[in-house]
Amino acid sequence: MLEKTGIPTKEDIKSITPSEERRRKGPVAVIECFQKIPCNPCYTSCKFGAIKEFKDINDRPVVDFDKCTGCGVCVVNCPGLAIFIIDETYSDTEALVKIPYEFIPLPEEGSYVTALNREGKPVCRAKVVKVQNAKSQDRTPVVSLAVPKEYSMEVRFFNINDYFSDNTYICRCEELTLGELRELIRMGYRTLDEIKRISRAGMGPCQGRTCRQLIMQELAKTTGQKMEEMPMTTFRPPVKAIKLGALAGGDDNE
Ligand code: SF4
Ligand code: SF4
Repeated sequence: MLEKTGIPTKEDIKSITPSEERRRKGPVAVIECFQKIPCNPCYTSCKFGAIKEFKDINDRPVVDFDKCTGCGVCVVNCPGLAIFIIDETYSDTEALVKIPYEFIPLPEEGSYVTALNREGKPVCRAKVVKVQNAKSQDRTPVVSLAVPKEYSMEVRFFNINDYFSDNTYICRCEELTLGELRELIRMGYRTLDEIKRISRAGMGPCQGRTCRQLIMQELAKTTGQKMEEMPMTTFRPPVKAIKLGALAGGDDNE
C-alpha cells in the first residue's frame, strides 16, 4: 500500500508507535520513515543516542524510546519531514503533536486549524499552541497542535482553515452551519431524517451529496453512533443532477 499510495498500513504504524507506558512519561519522537533510503541526518543529529546506530546509510531509523527526550532536534533535520514529536502529558485531555511544516503562510499561535490524518482526511479541530521558526531550524518551521489525546497517533498534518468552526457551512444549498447542526443535535435530533426535516439539509439541489456525510460524521462524533449503522434518508429521483431538457423528454444536452 505504501508504495502505491504513500500511506502506511496499520502494521507499519504499529511498528513505530511508542508503548502507552512510554507515551505517558512525556514527549517522544515518532519516526515515520518506512522505506530504505540513503539518508541519515536523524541519526547524526540526535545527541542523546536515541536513534540506533546506522550500520548502513540505507538503514531505517529505529528510536530507543527510553533515551529519547522529545527535544525535537531530529524533526528539523529530517529532509523527508518524517519525524513528529507527540506529548501525551500536555494536559489531562489533550496531546501536543509537533509537525514540521514547510508551507506559507504559517498559522498564527492561538488560531484553530483542521487537523488531518495521514490520508489527508479531517480528524478534528486543533489549536495552534506554538510555531517555532528559528534561524537554526533552516527554514523548517515546527507547528505544535493541541489535539484530543486519542488522536496523538493519528494527526500528522493540518489545513490552515478551521473547517470545524461553528460558522462552517455543512449544507450549502439550505445554508445549515456546523454550529446550527450542533445545536440541533444538542436539542435531541439524532437521525439524518430528523435533521433533514427540521433544517431542510439535504433537500436542496445537490440532494445531500455533500451534507449527508458531514452530518453523519458529526452525529457519530457527538452521539457515539456508528456511521455504518445509521439509518439513511430516503433517496428520491432525480438521484443525480440533470438538465431541464432531460426532464422535458428531450436530449440530455438540451
Ligand atoms: S527527539 Fe531529540 S532525543 Fe528524541 S530522537 Fe529526536 S533528537 Fe533524539
Ligand atoms: S532523516 Fe528523515 S528521511 Fe532521512 S532516514 Fe531519518 S527519518 Fe528518514
